[in-house]
Amino acid sequence: MMRLFDSHSHIQEKPFAGDIGDVLARATRAGVEGIAVCGFDAESNQAAIALAATSPILVPTVGFHPHDAGEVTSAMLAELESLARLPEVVAVGEIGLDFYRDLSPREDQRHALDEQLAIAVRVAKPVCVHSRAAEEEIYPHLAAYASSSPLPGAGRPVGVMHCFGGTLEQAQRYAGLGFLVSIPCTITYPNNAEARRIAAGLPLSALVVETDSPYLPPQELRGRRNEPANVRSAVAGIATARGMTAEAVADATTANACRLFGVRVPEEAASL
Ligand SMILES: [Zn+2]
Repeated sequence: MMRLFDSHSHIQEKPFAGDIGDVLARATRAGVEGIAVCGFDAESNQAAIALAATSPILVPTVGFHPHDAGEVTSAMLAELESLARLPEVVAVGEIGLDFYRDLSPREDQRHALDEQLAIAVRVAKPVCVHSRAAEEEIYPHLAAYASSSPLPGAGRPVGVMHCFGGTLEQAQRYAGLGFLVSIPCTITYPNNAEARRIAAGLPLSALVVETDSPYLPPQELRGRRNEPANVRSAVAGIATARGMTAEAVADATTANACRLFGVRVPEEAASL
Protein backbone atom coordinates (compact mmCIF):
# COMPACT_ATOMS: atom_id res chain seq x y z
CA MET A 1 0.00 0.00 0.00
CA MET A 2 1.10 3.55 -0.69
CA ARG A 3 2.41 5.50 2.29
CA LEU A 4 1.07 9.04 2.20
CA PHE A 5 1.52 12.20 4.31
CA ASP A 6 -0.91 15.14 4.01
CA SER A 7 1.34 18.07 4.95
CA HIS A 8 -1.46 20.66 5.30
CA SER A 9 -5.11 20.35 6.36
CA HIS A 10 -7.75 22.08 8.46
CA ILE A 11 -9.67 19.00 9.57
CA GLN A 12 -10.15 20.53 13.05
CA GLU A 13 -12.73 22.86 11.49
CA LYS A 14 -16.55 22.81 11.33
CA PRO A 15 -16.97 20.99 7.98
CA PHE A 16 -15.51 17.86 9.66
CA ALA A 17 -17.27 18.13 13.02
CA GLY A 18 -19.92 15.54 12.14
CA ASP A 19 -17.78 12.76 10.66
CA ILE A 20 -14.11 13.19 11.60
CA GLY A 21 -13.92 9.50 12.58
CA ASP A 22 -15.04 8.40 9.10
CA VAL A 23 -12.68 10.93 7.47
CA LEU A 24 -9.71 9.54 9.42
CA ALA A 25 -10.76 5.93 8.69
CA ARG A 26 -10.88 6.68 4.94
CA ALA A 27 -7.47 8.36 5.17
CA THR A 28 -5.97 5.33 6.93
CA ARG A 29 -7.48 2.96 4.34
CA ALA A 30 -5.94 5.10 1.58
CA GLY A 31 -2.49 4.72 3.19
CA VAL A 32 -2.26 8.13 4.89
CA GLU A 33 0.20 7.74 7.77
CA GLY A 34 0.48 11.39 8.76
CA ILE A 35 -1.71 14.50 8.58
CA ALA A 36 -0.68 18.01 9.63
CA VAL A 37 -3.59 19.82 11.29
CA CYS A 38 -2.85 23.49 10.74
CA GLY A 39 -4.11 26.31 12.93
CA PHE A 40 -4.62 29.82 11.59
CA ASP A 41 -6.10 31.80 14.53
CA ALA A 42 -6.31 31.46 18.32
CA GLU A 43 -9.37 29.20 18.23
CA SER A 44 -8.20 26.92 15.41
CA ASN A 45 -4.75 26.57 17.02
CA GLN A 46 -6.35 25.17 20.18
CA ALA A 47 -8.67 22.98 18.08
CA ALA A 48 -5.70 21.60 16.10
CA ILE A 49 -3.88 20.63 19.29
CA ALA A 50 -7.04 19.07 20.77
CA LEU A 51 -7.84 17.04 17.65
CA ALA A 52 -4.25 15.87 17.19
CA ALA A 53 -4.29 14.46 20.73
CA THR A 54 -6.94 11.96 19.58
CA SER A 55 -4.85 10.10 16.96
CA PRO A 56 -1.16 9.22 16.56
CA ILE A 57 -1.23 10.08 12.84
CA LEU A 58 -2.17 13.74 13.48
CA VAL A 59 0.42 16.49 14.09
CA PRO A 60 -0.68 20.04 14.98
CA THR A 61 0.78 23.36 13.84
CA VAL A 62 -0.02 26.81 15.28
CA GLY A 63 0.06 30.26 13.73
CA PHE A 64 -1.81 33.42 12.78
CA HIS A 65 -2.89 33.67 9.14
CA PRO A 66 -2.06 36.90 7.27
CA HIS A 67 -5.81 37.51 6.82
CA ASP A 68 -6.06 38.28 10.55
CA ALA A 69 -2.68 40.00 10.94
CA GLY A 70 -4.34 43.33 11.75
CA GLU A 71 -5.78 41.90 14.98
CA VAL A 72 -2.65 40.13 16.25
CA THR A 73 -1.44 41.64 19.55
CA SER A 74 1.79 41.07 21.46
CA ALA A 75 -0.18 39.13 24.09
CA MET A 76 -1.48 36.82 21.33
CA LEU A 77 2.06 36.32 20.04
CA ALA A 78 3.27 35.42 23.55
CA GLU A 79 0.47 32.86 23.84
CA LEU A 80 1.36 31.49 20.40
CA GLU A 81 4.98 31.06 21.45
CA SER A 82 4.00 29.00 24.47
CA LEU A 83 1.84 26.75 22.26
CA ALA A 84 4.64 26.47 19.71
CA ARG A 85 6.95 25.19 22.46
CA LEU A 86 4.66 22.24 23.28
CA PRO A 87 6.46 19.02 22.29
CA GLU A 88 3.54 17.78 20.18
CA VAL A 89 3.39 20.98 18.08
CA VAL A 90 5.52 20.36 14.98
CA ALA A 91 5.60 23.74 13.20
CA VAL A 92 4.66 27.42 13.27
CA GLY A 93 1.97 28.19 10.69
CA GLU A 94 0.16 28.89 8.76
CA ILE A 95 1.80 32.28 8.49
CA GLY A 96 2.67 34.45 5.51
CA LEU A 97 1.55 37.25 3.23
CA ASP A 98 -1.66 37.43 1.20
CA PHE A 99 -1.59 40.40 -1.16
CA TYR A 100 -4.41 38.89 -3.25
CA ARG A 101 -7.24 39.26 -0.77
CA ASP A 102 -5.49 41.96 1.32
CA LEU A 103 -7.78 41.32 4.31
CA SER A 104 -5.27 42.96 6.67
CA PRO A 105 -3.05 45.99 5.96
CA ARG A 106 0.21 44.88 4.30
CA GLU A 107 2.33 46.50 7.00
CA ASP A 108 0.49 44.47 9.66
CA GLN A 109 0.96 41.31 7.56
CA ARG A 110 4.72 41.89 7.33
CA HIS A 111 4.95 42.58 11.07
CA ALA A 112 2.97 39.47 12.09
CA LEU A 113 5.04 37.35 9.69
CA ASP A 114 8.38 38.58 11.07
CA GLU A 115 7.25 38.13 14.69
CA GLN A 116 6.17 34.54 13.97
CA LEU A 117 9.34 33.72 12.02
CA ALA A 118 11.27 34.87 15.10
CA ILE A 119 9.17 32.55 17.27
CA ALA A 120 9.99 29.64 14.94
CA VAL A 121 13.71 30.38 15.32
CA ARG A 122 13.41 30.52 19.12
CA VAL A 123 11.47 27.25 19.37
CA ALA A 124 13.61 25.61 16.65
CA LYS A 125 10.64 24.42 14.58
CA PRO A 126 9.88 24.81 10.87
CA VAL A 127 7.25 27.16 9.38
CA CYS A 128 4.22 26.53 7.14
CA VAL A 129 4.08 29.48 4.75
CA HIS A 130 1.02 30.87 2.98
CA SER A 131 2.01 33.18 0.13
CA ARG A 132 -0.52 34.52 -2.33
CA ALA A 133 0.31 37.22 -4.89
CA ALA A 134 3.36 37.87 -2.69
CA GLU A 135 5.90 35.33 -3.97
CA GLU A 136 8.51 38.06 -4.55
CA GLU A 137 7.72 40.26 -1.52
CA ILE A 138 7.96 37.41 0.96
CA TYR A 139 11.40 36.29 -0.22
CA PRO A 140 13.60 38.63 1.91
CA HIS A 141 11.58 37.77 5.05
CA LEU A 142 12.07 34.04 4.46
CA ALA A 143 15.72 34.40 3.45
CA ALA A 144 16.52 36.23 6.71
CA TYR A 145 14.59 33.59 8.66
CA ALA A 146 16.32 30.67 6.87
CA SER A 147 19.76 32.07 7.70
CA SER A 148 18.94 32.20 11.44
CA SER A 149 16.98 28.93 11.77
CA PRO A 150 18.91 26.20 13.62
CA LEU A 151 17.16 23.44 11.61
CA PRO A 152 19.60 23.13 8.67
CA GLY A 153 22.32 22.32 11.21
CA ALA A 154 20.24 19.26 12.12
CA GLY A 155 19.73 18.32 8.45
CA ARG A 156 16.12 19.48 8.46
CA PRO A 157 14.12 21.75 6.11
CA VAL A 158 13.38 25.26 7.46
CA GLY A 159 9.75 25.07 6.39
CA VAL A 160 7.24 24.41 3.65
CA MET A 161 5.74 26.65 0.99
CA HIS A 162 2.13 25.49 1.34
CA CYS A 163 0.01 25.31 -1.83
CA PHE A 164 2.71 27.12 -3.75
CA GLY A 165 1.19 29.30 -6.47
CA GLY A 166 4.31 30.88 -7.97
CA THR A 167 6.52 29.82 -10.84
CA LEU A 168 9.06 26.99 -11.06
CA GLU A 169 11.87 29.57 -10.95
CA GLN A 170 10.49 31.05 -7.70
CA ALA A 171 10.00 27.55 -6.26
CA GLN A 172 13.66 26.78 -7.00
CA ARG A 173 14.73 29.88 -5.06
CA TYR A 174 12.74 28.77 -2.00
CA ALA A 175 14.10 25.24 -2.30
CA GLY A 176 17.54 26.86 -2.35
CA LEU A 177 16.77 28.46 1.04
CA GLY A 178 15.95 25.03 2.49
CA PHE A 179 12.16 25.11 2.07
CA LEU A 180 10.09 22.22 0.80
CA VAL A 181 7.40 23.01 -1.78
CA SER A 182 3.96 21.52 -1.25
CA ILE A 183 1.85 20.35 -4.19
CA PRO A 184 -1.94 20.31 -3.63
CA CYS A 185 -4.63 18.24 -5.40
CA THR A 186 -5.18 21.20 -7.77
CA ILE A 187 -2.21 19.86 -9.79
CA THR A 188 -4.97 17.79 -11.47
CA TYR A 189 -6.78 20.89 -12.83
CA PRO A 190 -6.41 21.18 -16.64
CA ASN A 191 -5.34 24.87 -16.43
CA ASN A 192 -2.69 24.28 -13.74
CA ALA A 193 0.31 23.66 -16.02
CA GLU A 194 2.67 25.60 -13.72
CA ALA A 195 2.04 23.20 -10.82
CA ARG A 196 2.96 20.29 -13.12
CA ARG A 197 6.08 22.19 -14.22
CA ILE A 198 7.08 22.70 -10.57
CA ALA A 199 6.37 19.04 -9.76
CA ALA A 200 8.55 17.92 -12.66
CA GLY A 201 11.29 20.54 -12.28
CA LEU A 202 12.16 20.42 -8.57
CA PRO A 203 14.21 17.60 -7.07
CA LEU A 204 11.95 14.97 -5.52
CA SER A 205 13.69 15.69 -2.20
CA ALA A 206 12.09 19.19 -2.21
CA LEU A 207 8.47 18.06 -2.64
CA VAL A 208 5.65 17.26 -0.24
CA VAL A 209 1.91 16.89 -0.89
CA GLU A 210 -1.17 18.32 0.81
CA THR A 211 -4.94 18.59 0.59
CA ASP A 212 -5.59 21.91 2.42
CA SER A 213 -8.85 20.18 3.42
CA PRO A 214 -11.67 21.24 3.26
CA TYR A 215 -10.43 23.39 0.35
CA LEU A 216 -8.86 22.60 -3.06
CA PRO A 217 -10.42 19.22 -3.99
CA PRO A 218 -9.00 17.30 -6.98
CA GLN A 219 -10.52 17.77 -10.44
CA GLU A 220 -12.93 14.81 -10.18
CA LEU A 221 -14.35 16.15 -6.88
CA ARG A 222 -14.53 19.87 -7.69
CA GLY A 223 -17.17 21.67 -5.66
CA ARG A 224 -17.06 19.04 -2.90
CA ARG A 225 -15.36 19.04 0.50
CA ASN A 226 -11.75 17.87 0.25
CA GLU A 227 -10.34 15.37 2.77
CA PRO A 228 -6.92 13.82 3.53
CA ALA A 229 -7.60 10.52 1.67
CA ASN A 230 -7.60 12.57 -1.55
CA VAL A 231 -3.91 13.46 -1.11
CA ARG A 232 -3.25 10.46 -3.40
CA SER A 233 -4.51 12.71 -6.27
CA ALA A 234 -1.64 15.11 -5.66
CA VAL A 235 0.79 12.17 -5.60
CA ALA A 236 -0.68 10.82 -8.86
CA GLY A 237 -0.38 14.27 -10.45
CA ILE A 238 3.31 14.50 -9.52
CA ALA A 239 3.95 10.93 -10.71
CA THR A 240 2.42 11.71 -14.12
CA ALA A 241 4.34 15.00 -14.40
CA ARG A 242 7.67 13.29 -13.56
CA GLY A 243 7.08 10.00 -15.37
CA MET A 244 7.53 8.04 -12.14
CA THR A 245 5.39 5.54 -10.24
CA ALA A 246 2.95 6.89 -7.65
CA GLU A 247 4.56 4.56 -5.08
CA ALA A 248 7.97 6.20 -5.53
CA VAL A 249 6.46 9.69 -5.21
CA ALA A 250 4.45 8.62 -2.15
CA ASP A 251 7.50 7.15 -0.42
CA ALA A 252 9.65 10.21 -1.10
CA THR A 253 7.07 12.84 -0.15
CA THR A 254 6.20 10.96 3.04
CA ALA A 255 9.86 10.73 4.03
CA ASN A 256 10.26 14.46 3.26
CA ALA A 257 7.24 15.39 5.40
CA CYS A 258 8.62 13.33 8.29
CA ARG A 259 11.96 15.13 8.00
CA LEU A 260 10.14 18.49 7.85
CA PHE A 261 8.03 17.93 10.94
CA GLY A 262 10.64 15.92 12.84
CA VAL A 263 8.37 12.89 13.19
CA ARG A 264 8.61 9.23 12.28
CA VAL A 265 5.63 7.54 10.72
CA PRO A 266 4.12 5.14 13.32
CA GLU A 267 5.19 1.99 11.47
CA GLU A 268 8.79 3.14 11.31
CA ALA A 269 8.74 4.19 14.95
CA ALA A 270 7.44 0.76 15.95
CA SER A 271 10.27 -1.04 14.18
CA LEU A 272 13.02 1.00 15.91
ZN1 LIG B 1 -4.37 26.28 4.79
